[in-house]
Amino acid sequence: MDRISIIKPDDWHSHLRDKDALETTVPAAMRCFKRCIIMPNLSPPVTSAESIKKYRDSILKHRPSDSDWTPLMVMYLTDNTSIECIRTAHNQGLIFGCKYYPAGATTNSASGVTDLNGLDAVFEIMQELGIPLQIHGEVTDSSVDIFDREKIFIDRHLTQIKHRFPELRIILEHITTEHSVEFVRDNDKYIAATITPQHLLFNRNDMLAGGIRPHLFCLPILKRDLHQNALIKAATSGEKKFFLGTDSAPHPRANKESACGCAGCFSHHAAIELYAQAFERAGALDQLEKFASINGAEFYGLEKNSELISLVRDPWQVPKQMDYGDSYLVPLAAGHTLNWRLET
Ligand SMILES: [Zn+2]
Repeated sequence: MDRISIIKPDDWHSHLRDKDALETTVPAAMRCFKRCIIMPNLSPPVTSAESIKKYRDSILKHRPSDSDWTPLMVMYLTDNTSIECIRTAHNQGLIFGCKYYPAGATTNSASGVTDLNGLDAVFEIMQELGIPLQIHGEVTDSSVDIFDREKIFIDRHLTQIKHRFPELRIILEHITTEHSVEFVRDNDKYIAATITPQHLLFNRNDMLAGGIRPHLFCLPILKRDLHQNALIKAATSGEKKFFLGTDSAPHPRANKESACGCAGCFSHHAAIELYAQAFERAGALDQLEKFASINGAEFYGLEKNSELISLVRDPWQVPKQMDYGDSYLVPLAAGHTLNWRLET
């Protein structure tokens, strides 16, 4: 098999940043996706109808006039998010979901939520209006080991949210452990999960053995291979609860190669090729379309895209770095050979 065609995919989790970064990130996001959820962790974060509209307009300035690529906007929840704020953004058709970051969990999350119990009224209105909740599922308690933070979040917090808001649609973003796979799988139809290319292709040995590789550092952090294998099984299973979310998150090279490097991997340069690589390794290329193009749309209650994209077997080497504003970034799998190439 040297050529495969699938329904055009969507990315249910991406970071485009703002200002000059959009010159790089918007064209990259449009490369193989029709719709992208745009995460709101700017500085300051996107927390109101007004700021969402402003951010969306700045993104759309970089979209060519003949393109129908669609950014799906998300509101950043804080301790101060009000019901009114959510209602206003919802009534104006501006929000596709609300993102919960525990304060301090990752890049630009300092304004995140410090006390989940304070959000009861917000979750109530989201459940009532049918607004999905996208969750960065990690505790930030400094006493909890970084490799255990996702599991502890599920046990301590997510089970509570699920219990109290049974019909709130929840997406556990960028899952990284076997425990998360099982939690999502064993739960009802209101819970789903996204999986990134880095968590399918790499494990913590790739990041830490034989030298530290800061460009593989992301949050939640890469785990051991048994978890990577559980994620590969889930993604390639065809199960409706698991779908594509790249978490593509660019940082200038110098901010990654630093004494205190930033978390995040940029993958929009080759998103569908990276997933194809993982699916081919698992002998499951025939399941790629469900994961990339069908399951997410179904969970979010949207139509599948009508166009197709094609991938051809034509091995190529990922560039070692790319331009990023007035600096550079190192893309995911830089220098590696990928077997499939998007046909343009
Ligand atoms: Zn993210």
